[in-house]
Amino acid sequence: MAEKNYSIDPWSSSNILEEDYDRLINKFGIERINDIMRERFKDHRFIRRKVIFGNRDLDEIYKAIDKDKKWAVMSGIKPSGPFHLGTMTTALEIVEFQSLGAKAYYCIADIESYEDNGIPYEEAESTAVDNLADILALGLDPENAYIYRQSEEPIVKDVCFKVSRLVTNNMLKAIYGKKTFGLYLAALVQCGDIILPQIMDGVQPTVVPVGIDQDPHIRLTRDLTRRYYKEKKVNGKIIQEDFFLPGATYHKLLPGLDGSEKMSKRNPNSYFTFNEPLESIEKKVRSAFTGGRKNMKMQKELGGEPQKCMIYKILTYFFEDDDQQLAEEFEQCIHGELMCGEHKRACVEKIIEYVKEHRKKKEKNIDKAREILNIN
Ligand code: SF4
Repeated sequence: MAEKNYSIDPWSSSNILEEDYDRLINKFGIERINDIMRERFKDHRFIRRKVIFGNRDLDEIYKAIDKDKKWAVMSGIKPSGPFHLGTMTTALEIVEFQSLGAKAYYCIADIESYEDNGIPYEEAESTAVDNLADILALGLDPENAYIYRQSEEPIVKDVCFKVSRLVTNNMLKAIYGKKTFGLYLAALVQCGDIILPQIMDGVQPTVVPVGIDQDPHIRLTRDLTRRYYKEKKVNGKIIQEDFFLPGATYHKLLPGLDGSEKMSKRNPNSYFTFNEPLESIEKKVRSAFTGGRKNMKMQKELGGEPQKCMIYKILTYFFEDDDQQLAEEFEQCIHGELMCGEHKRACVEKIIEYVKEHRKKKEKNIDKAREILNIN
C-alpha cells in the first residue's frame, strides 16, 4: 500500500487522524510535551489535559519566567467568519498564556483573509470586530496586549519584504505546495506577525499556540529568523544576534462534531459557531458522534469509548472546568455507568449556559473592540 503523504496545508482544513500525530512529530522535528513542561505549565489547561501535545522551544518560556524576564504569546485570527470551536481553541490558549505572565500579541489576519478567501479589507472589518469581542469576552486583557490588523501594521509588511530576499519560489513550493503568489506573500507577512513582538518590544522568547496544520508557518519563520535576524555577517564573519527563534505549542485538531474527519464549513453539522441560534447549537450537540455502544445493554456490559467521543472531547477542550469531574465521567463511561443520553443532556445544558454567558460578556466588549481596531 502506498504510504500516506503526511504534508500539511495551513489553508485547507486538514483531516489529521489520531494515528497521524506520531508521524508528523517525527517528520517535522516537533518536540513532545515532556513531564517537566507539563509540571511547569500545570495551570495551563490545554497542556495539563494533553490537548497540546507538542512544542518548539517551550523551555525558553519557563527559563524566562524563572529569570523574571519578559516573554510573549503571539497568535491571531483570520476574519473570515464567526468564532467557532476551532478558533476558540487558539483564543483560549492565548488567554491562558497571558494569564501566566505573557504579553499577548493578537493579529487580525485580514491580508490572509483577502488572499485566501477574497474578502476585501473593508468587508472584513465587521467580522474583525465580532472576533475581537469574542476573545475579549474569553478573557484577553487588552491592557497587556498589542492587537492589530495586518493591513495596517507596517512592521509585518516590512518584515515580509526584508526576509523575501532569502526566499525562493522553490522553497515556498516545498513547504506549502503550489499556491498563488498572494498566499506565499501572506505566509511571509505571517513571519512578520510572529517576529513582531521581538522587533517592537525587544528580543524575548515567544510562544505561538497553533493547531498542527499551521506548522509550515512556524518552520518557515524559524528558518528566516535564524537566517535574517539571528545570523549577521560582519566583516565576512557570521555573528549570532540575540533574537530568539519563535517557539510554538501544537494542539490536536478537533474532528467534526458529527463524526466526520474534520470541522468544515461545507458540512454545517460538523461544528457550531457562537453566533448561531441556541436551538441549532443544541440540535448539533444532541446529534454529535459519541463513543457509545449500539444499545444500553451493551453500554452497561462493555462500557463506552470516551477517547473517541466528541461529547467528551468538547467537554475536555472547553465546557468542563473541573478536572476531577472529567476524570470521574471518563471512569463512569468506560465502566458502563454513564449513558450517552444523560451525558449529552448534561453537556447541552453546560454549553447553552456557557454560550448565553459568553454572549452577555461579548456584547459588553463590542465597543471596546471597535475602539481597539479603530473601526466605527
Ligand atoms: S457516556 Fe458520555 S463520554 Fe461515554 S461515550 Fe457516551 S457521551 Fe461519550
